[in-house]
Amino acid sequence: MSGPIQQRDAECEDELLERVEAREGRTTTLGGQAVARVLPTKGRRTVGAWCFVDLVGPEDAEHPDPLEIGPHPHIGLSTVTWLLEGEALHSDSLGTEQLIRPGQLNLMTAGHGIAHAELAAEPPFRGVQLWVAQPEATRHGASRFEHVPELPQVELERARGTVLVGSLDGAVSDASVDTPLLGADLTLSAGRTVLPLRAGFEHAVAPVDGTVKVGPEVVAPGWLALVPAGVEELPVEARESGARLLLLGGEPLGERVQMWWNFVARDREEITRAWREWEQRTDRFGSVPSTLERIEAPRPPWVPGD
Ligand code: MN
Repeated sequence: MSGPIQQRDAECEDELLERVEAREGRTTTLGGQAVARVLPTKGRRTVGAWCFVDLVGPEDAEHPDPLEIGPHPHIGLSTVTWLLEGEALHSDSLGTEQLIRPGQLNLMTAGHGIAHAELAAEPPFRGVQLWVAQPEATRHGASRFEHVPELPQVELERARGTVLVGSLDGAVSDASVDTPLLGADLTLSAGRTVLPLRAGFEHAVAPVDGTVKVGPEVVAPGWLALVPAGVEELPVEARESGARLLLLGGEPLGERVQMWWNFVARDREEITRAWREWEQRTDRFGSVPSTLERIEAPRPPWVPGD
């Protein structure tokens, strides 16, 4: 290869990296737990098909509240549950009861409709709750649940971790995906690491421990770095104490999703229908074997009161 080609590649890469953007998430509570919601974020609803990223965990580790989320419905999405600490029990309207521990993945796909409940079995609980929007091709289909007890490990220079979905550096997860997707949990040692990315994917980096420099941006837990499609080598840098991050990516979804409460759809009408069916307890969502109290849906703001 001659010099000019190398130089042009380098310029192109820098130009893309200059478009990395940092976004601050917002904090909320969910089932008694402090949550940092980093996606959706201002002006951005999806990264690939990822449409919801919550970092769930006790901010005050001395007074952790138990995670208790009673039966509630979903449509049009897959939930990806990944624990950092503790244990949780998942139960759903397919009849599934599944204990999940750190290192394992729960993947529940709603399709036309499912209901589930989640309970921390072993506090303190700390984990990640991710949603993946289903594409038009599968979002009206059957619901399903997958527990993936073992996931592939990836070992890069100054970075190692687990591939949750998709593939990274040749390590391929068994978890099913409806669209090309990547999710990985990486622990960085101090210094600079280059993450090998797929050019056709857009990506995001969400630190869970420590501060990370992503291209030109520095992000801390509770923040998200958005990485545009086209980047094939993403430099990330951790300080002396190292860092832990989620790397998320995927082919741009190309469908505009509408999210409200626990529903991912394309318009208000679909959401209104799902809300009514949950309220009226039709068999669309089934019933969940759980001792926790069923969660009633709030009325969508566009639906007039009775
Ligand atoms: Mn849920």
